[in-house]
Amino acid sequence: MLTAKNKQGDLVQLVHCSDEEMEMHREQQFFCPVCGQEVQLKAGHIRIPHFAHRSLCSFAGSVDNESEEHLALKEMFIDWCESYKISYQVEAYLPDLKQRPDLLIGNIAIEVQCSSLGLGKIMKRTRTYLANGYIPLWICGEHFWHKQEMGENIKAFTLFSKTLGFYFWAADWRQKTLMLYYHLEENLKGQVYYGRKVWPFCSIPLNQLFHNQHELKLHHTRSYDLKTELLNSYRYLAKKLLIKDKKVLSFQECCYKNHQHLLQLHPWFYYEVSQRFVYTHSSFYLLCSLWQFLKEQQGERIQFEVISQFCQQLIIREKLLYTFPAISADCIACWLINQLVESLIVFRILARRAGETFVIKLPDDQFASLNQSNPFKSLDFPQAIITSTPLKI
Ligand SMILES: [Zn+2]
Repeated sequence: MLTAKNKQGDLVQLVHCSDEEMEMHREQQFFCPVCGQEVQLKAGHIRIPHFAHRSLCSFAGSVDNESEEHLALKEMFIDWCESYKISYQVEAYLPDLKQRPDLLIGNIAIEVQCSSLGLGKIMKRTRTYLANGYIPLWICGEHFWHKQEMGENIKAFTLFSKTLGFYFWAADWRQKTLMLYYHLEENLKGQVYYGRKVWPFCSIPLNQLFHNQHELKLHHTRSYDLKTELLNSYRYLAKKLLIKDKKVLSFQECCYKNHQHLLQLHPWFYYEVSQRFVYTHSSFYLLCSLWQFLKEQQGERIQFEVISQFCQQLIIREKLLYTFPAISADCIACWLINQLVESLIVFRILARRAGETFVIKLPDDQFASLNQSNPFKSLDFPQAIITSTPLKI
């Protein structure tokens, strides 16, 4: 940690200490501002000067044992605040919450996260901040953003806004940059796609950036070749089914219950460009059920609201969607249902009539037959699917 109390009870901060000040500090005794235990000043030549407990801090959310990356990022954020004269508190202990954010800027609680923290802990901290009027802002260290997958931890830090889609913040202490990964999408195979905006540290006022994050407009579009995507998903499922992959077998089970085969579904089922990471388990359960529901009303008119309610009930009853600590469940369900309806329109299963009324045009026959090398070759659908932020919904 970068702060401790001296014998007089004054808070001492190690960032920007002159050599003389540091020499003075070496003579003094320091204490943890939270648990009161004596802490040691560690100011050698290799690591960033910091305080460390001699034994374990009795405070559960201890900031002890911080990595060099963590200390460096904290220092860089302090520099950033100071260069714009933004008032901040380092490692301020919030007694009501029993939490200690790395940096507090107004009601924004910045938590720099460089190592894996249990999902339960992230959830608890995030919710406690929110319940007490703070805006938690997790900044992921390189451990997280180097990975090309949406791990559980990244999901826990993920935020959502209509202008950015799903997004999270990260920082690169080597390049001294703050990064926003936004418009996150994940396909059936688990590949993650995203847009990325990079700000060098100290390049713009930090408080404005964080306060207005929901309004940031970083126009971003991604174009997918539909047939390629469908074929990739289809081949992935076929391969996994062959080796009896547990996850894919569970998809197959969903299909069986509806008297369908995983590899003989309508192409719409293989369209998984952007939605994968919001599901707790197979999306096929929702897709099969929705298909069945539409089938019962073949040729009739249906309101968006009716489709939405059907999906909502299923999502809640079967706990189909992941709980993101900082995004409301309603918001995710609403986003997903819009995506689903959008995809039904792309595949001409729903044809828009007036306003939010659609006609259901479900094809009667099953689509693909097993062992076809390219079942989507002759499809008459749009070539490219474009997803974009800000979202159209
Ligand atoms: Zn302590």
